[in-house]
Amino acid sequence: FNYDKIAPGFDRDAVLNRMKSQMSDFRFSHCVRVEKEARGLAAENGINVDKAGLAGLLHDYAKERPDSEFTEIIKAKNLDPELLNYGNAIWHGIVGAEIIKDELNVYDEDVLNAVRRHTVGATTMTGVDKCTFIADFIEPARDFPGIDEARTYAEKSLDAGVAFELKHSIAHLIDKNRPIYPDTFISYNYWINKGE
Ligand code: GDP
Ligand code: FE
Ligand code: FE
Ligand code: FE
Repeated sequence: FNYDKIAPGFDRDAVLNRMKSQMSDFRFSHCVRVEKEARGLAAENGINVDKAGLAGLLHDYAKERPDSEFTEIIKAKNLDPELLNYGNAIWHGIVGAEIIKDELNVYDEDVLNAVRRHTVGATTMTGVDKCTFIADFIEPARDFPGIDEARTYAEKSLDAGVAFELKHSIAHLIDKNRPIYPDTFISYNYWINKGE
């Protein structure tokens, strides 16, 4: 795959090596699988395949960084201070996009937004956002109760896939007594009846 048109100078092999050196083997292979899955979803739905693929590849780029790195960036870049009340689950997408910009020189806002939105979604989601969000959830190695249903909805339409994923994720977080980032509810309320 060649992403030079979206991010001039982007060297995929160099980025793969960099990612491999800064994350677990499992996380690295997950990113490569999400890239492929996102490209497939994009192709099936008439969405820019390279933007979806690049967002898929990079979506968890910052996931294994220490909390201190995220909190410093939130302060230095004047991001929403409310973010400080959450943790890695929320930061690695929203703040991770800033790290991708600064370290990899990827400035394409469609790609960066898809990274920002890949965990909690959003009310306005582009096709690239939806492909990245869903690919993360249904890539081939994902296995959880409900995965077959998730894949079926994603095949029906991207909107149905997004709606199911938000519903499933919120139910899972509640079951585990985990706090829920308010934007996740806002996304849920918006999408829940959109994929019928
Ligand atoms: P991953 O990075 O490939 O593991 O997948 P995601 O980025 O989609 O999700 C990361 C983690 O965040 C998962 O454990 C989700 O269950 C969790 N998560 C998703 N939404 C929320 C939320 O609103 N609040 C909290 N606390 N966690 C969430
Ligand atoms: Fe993630
Ligand atoms: Fe996700
Ligand atoms: Fe992921």
